[in-house]
Parts: sequence; C-alpha cells; structure tokens
Amino acid sequence: MTIDTKKLLEIDRNTVFHASTHLKQYAQGEVGGRIITGAQGIRIQDSEGVELIDAFAGLYCVNIGYGRTEMAEAIYEQAKKLAYYHTYVGHTNEALIELSDRIIKMAPAGMSKVYYGMSGSDANETQLKLVWYYNNARGLPQKKKVISRDRGYHGSSIASGSMTGLPLFHAHFDLPLERIKHTIAPVYYRRPDDNMSELEFSRYCAAKLEEMILAEGPDTVAAMIGEPVLGTGGIVPPPEGYWTEIRKVLDKYDILLIADEVVCGFGRLGADFGSLYYDMKPDLMTVAKGLTSAYQPLSGVIVGEKVWSVLEQGTDQWGAIGHGYTYSGHPMGAASALCNLDIIEREGLVANARDVGAYLQQRMQDTFAEHPLVGESRGVGLLHALEFSSNKARREHFDPNLKVGPQIAAACLEQGLIARAMPHGDILGFAPPLVVTKGEVDDIVERTLRAVNKVTDKLVRSGEW
Ligand code: PMP
Repeated sequence: MTIDTKKLLEIDRNTVFHASTHLKQYAQGEVGGRIITGAQGIRIQDSEGVELIDAFAGLYCVNIGYGRTEMAEAIYEQAKKLAYYHTYVGHTNEALIELSDRIIKMAPAGMSKVYYGMSGSDANETQLKLVWYYNNARGLPQKKKVISRDRGYHGSSIASGSMTGLPLFHAHFDLPLERIKHTIAPVYYRRPDDNMSELEFSRYCAAKLEEMILAEGPDTVAAMIGEPVLGTGGIVPPPEGYWTEIRKVLDKYDILLIADEVVCGFGRLGADFGSLYYDMKPDLMTVAKGLTSAYQPLSGVIVGEKVWSVLEQGTDQWGAIGHGYTYSGHPMGAASALCNLDIIEREGLVANARDVGAYLQQRMQDTFAEHPLVGESRGVGLLHALEFSSNKARREHFDPNLKVGPQIAAACLEQGLIARAMPHGDILGFAPPLVVTKGEVDDIVERTLRAVNKVTDKLVRSGEW
C-alpha cells in the first residue's frame, strides 16, 4: 500500500507537537517533514522511498541496529504472558528480576540495586531526589546542591534540564533550578592556554571544580553529575586523567559522583560502561538508550551500596520511599532489554564497537585532520565529532548565523547520510549502531567528505569564508 505522504504530513503539521522543533516553521511547512516507514540494520527508509544511512543510531540509541525480528518476538512473547503489572510494594516480574541481576553483575563493583524509569530525563530526575533524600537521611539537610558541567546533557525535564548545561534548554523555561550549578566543560580543544598538556588541563578543571565547591560551601554540595564522554554538548572525550582528578576532589568533600551513562552505557565506547572505560568509580549511574536499543522505552538508576544503605535507613525512619512511576520496572521494557543484552553479548558488539570504533577514529582522522574546514576530529569507540572552524590555527568559530554545522548535516542528507548537527557550535556528530562494519564506515566517511567539500566550496564561492 502506498502512503500519501503529502496528506499525512498535513495532518501531522496540524496535530503533532514535535520535540526540538521550530513550531511555527514546521506548522507552515518551512522545515522538516519526513515519515519514517521502515528500517533495517543501519539504514532507515521514508515514505518517498528514500533510504538513508543512519550514522547517529536514531538519537545514539539503536545500538543493535534496526529491524531485529528477535526483539519483536521477545516483546510479543512478553506481551502475551504479562504485558503489565506494577512494582510497588515488592511486586515484581521474572523479566525484571533477571534483568536487574544481569545489570548489577555487568556494572562496576559496588553497585547494588536498579530503579527503573522510561527515559534518561526521568532517571536523572530520580537521581536528584535520591541525592536529596540521602543527605536528609544522613542528617545533612543543607547538603543539596548538584554540580553539573557546561555543555553537559542530562535531559530536558525540570531537574534534568537544569543539570543540562546548554543555554537552549534553560532559556525561557526559567531554568536552571537554583540548587544546580555548572562547572567548566573538559574540552581540551578550548583549553585556556595552548601550552597546557591534557593532564595539566584536567588538573585545571579539577581546580575549577574545587574552587566552586569552596565558594558554595562544601557542606552545601551533595553531588556532581557528568557523562563519561560529553555527548550532546559536542561529543568530547575527557582529557587524560580527568575523572581521576575529579574523583579526588569529590572524595575530599564527601560529594557523590553520578555517571550519566545514557549514551556511553552498553558498549558505545567499546566497554560495557564509560565508568569502566575511564575508571570513574561512580556512586550512582544513569542508563537508558542502549539498555533496550530503544525498542522499548526503559531507563535505570543504578544505586551503589554506599547510597543504598542510607536509603534503607531513611525508610526505617520515615516509612516507604515516596517515589514511584506507574511504569517503573515495566515487563515489556525488561523483556526487550534482556533480548537486547543477549544480542550484544552473542554478536560481540562491545568488541565490535572497540575494533570498528578504532577504525572509524582512524579513518576520520586521516580524512579530516588536515581539512581546512575542520578544526578538530575527535572521538572514542563509536562516537565521533567533527568540529568546524573558520580559522583552524586559531580555533575560531564561524558566525553562528552561517549555520555551518546544519549546512553540513543537510549536505550529508543529500548524500544519503544522517549525521547530527549538534545543538552546540558547528559540530557534526557520529554514533552509528554498534553493528556497523568497516565497509559501512568507509561509506560514511566518503559521504561525509563529499558533503564537507561541497559546503566548503559554497562558503568560499559565496565569499562567506
Ligand atoms: N543523559 C544523556 C547523557 C543523554 O544523552 C540523554 C538524551 N540524549 C538524556 C540523559 C535524556 O534522555 P531522554 O531523552 O531519554 O530523556
């Protein structure tokens, strides 16, 4: 059956409130409008028969690739058996028990329990509540501030959006909340002094963090949250030694570390978790996306023993914990996570992310490091970014009005490739499904090069550069 794209899009423009979209331009048909009808492996198809390579795995979440019938069957089987029951007051289901046991065994040492939600945002919302409850239970009611980082991304709800360090997510929403502070982002490319080594820059970041803790008062700071690798803020791996230096400062002032593993968890860096890759030793972890490869919405807050024992004491004092979602521990989510983890394990996708990831990094470096438009080509595992610069030697930004990043993403689309114009700066992001092959990486790199060259020519010809 053919789809009447025009008619359906008209209904869509009249009825759907789209995420992260210019509402009026969309309603008037000036931007966007693509009906995705199917997907297989690393490719998606639209209603006009266009096929695109998805080098961003949706929103870096479809780790096992699209169109896995095994996943559909696992979800179907679970739906037939038990589509839903809640997890309040000790009610549980088999899929959830098996999944939780598996996550705790995979997670870094010292992790104890998993609380479930539906999205990364709601999981980080839970994190904040747990951290506050933890310090109330310890008799430290003034120890409540949470330090996040500029350019961090932790969601777009009230608390998680406050922890996000991107102005777009704060402006006109009266965010961030007062208790959320932002320290500097560990972006070596933007180091304050060219002569700083990576390790010196990491120490500089740790010193800035300590300065903020002292200025706020250590007895008012409860936790720090960070992604192992900055994601939506520009895909920036931390400089050498960063997490070790940060952990030292946090330990000194009795401050918890929350690792937001929503992007890095379940293989993206070529390790089970970013926390393991960088030896972060977090007290709490947030997972989502790759947990189910987005076949069902599911997120988790993994709570370490140190926090857990205090939460237990809290309930001794005050009774049942006042936190719960209707869909916490949803069996459909748990069943899809189990099947997803089976696929990751059976197909060696973490090792694939490491090997093909190393190949991706090398190919990108070889192709773009010397390109005049590219200020930096950086990444780790199957995460990569190209940052464009108007002056490579001086690392200058283009005039944001030129929208160089979005122009290059649009040129990639013309080449049949989805790479993401990151919301901060002129940065193009890559995070293909973990099933990507070296041959597909070659294809992605070649299409990207054609797109980058095309925009370079256009900028030069128009005199804009
Ligand atoms: N944390 C990180 C690191 C993320 O990248 C995201 C989503 N991109 C979130 C949290 C929020 O997840 P969600 O969109 O599922 O709410």
